[in-house]
Amino acid sequence: MIVDCHFHVDETMLTLEQMIEGMDKNNVTKTALIAPMNETMFEVNSAFQHNVQRLFRSLILHAPQIGLKIYDGLVKDGYLKLYGNSYKIFTKPNNDIVAAAIDRFPNRFLGWVTVNPMIPVSMEEVELYLHKPNFIGVKVHPFMHQYSIKALDPLAAMCESKGIPMIIHLSSERDSYKYLPEHYPKLKLIYAHAGLPFWKKLWKYVKDQPNVFVDTSSDYLNSSLVKKAVESLGYRKVLYGCDGPYGMKTFNEYDYSAKKDWIDSLQIPDNEKEYILGKNFLEMIG
Ligand SMILES: [Zn+2]
Repeated sequence: MIVDCHFHVDETMLTLEQMIEGMDKNNVTKTALIAPMNETMFEVNSAFQHNVQRLFRSLILHAPQIGLKIYDGLVKDGYLKLYGNSYKIFTKPNNDIVAAAIDRFPNRFLGWVTVNPMIPVSMEEVELYLHKPNFIGVKVHPFMHQYSIKALDPLAAMCESKGIPMIIHLSSERDSYKYLPEHYPKLKLIYAHAGLPFWKKLWKYVKDQPNVFVDTSSDYLNSSLVKKAVESLGYRKVLYGCDGPYGMKTFNEYDYSAKKDWIDSLQIPDNEKEYILGKNFLEMIG
């Protein structure tokens, strides 16, 4: 069974029906949905943009100090700045959108509750979502919401005590990838986008942390980076995800096969790919 652990629902970019069609074509049984993080964000298909992405990856891997500076510059005053455009970041992502998608397709969608610890949000509200059907864990975004990893203490403690996972898109805060595993060793953690923006350093650390995983989602990565992550971490610590609809160029045209090819093309046995494509995640949320 193939399960995508990281996909946003934003029908201004991709309708639920179109998602299901794409999932069916690529044998994806279920997708774990996250509320939209920012306003509609179509991208242009340009050589310039691909070169920028390639340069960014290379800097993060080989000259992290410069790479991290560029990364930090992507978020400013509540806007995400990409390739000369600005997109408003949602301070309070709307989890009702995820709940509504699950209501419509309960056999196909799971849900993450997205929480921003910088705004007053009661644990009761988070728990309310966790009690709704198919919600499996908590999504947090210290990069876009701009806070220190320590702000996640109450949420991490809650997830750890409930035995539910937390998926996190890290900021560039120094050594922040060590904080939660050290303070909440039983917490099930997924570092999104293969642990962006730390990658190699993070893989080295995560390798020995029994409850910490990475996902393979987003255009921040490419197939060679996914390959490196799997080589460093092994197939039991890597989870397949897309991070769509981000990266789309045209309304309702999402190419599911692109991210899946990154896994399909790995030079590892099929049964190991099955763990990356779903078994690891199902075990985590089981
Ligand atoms: Zn995402």
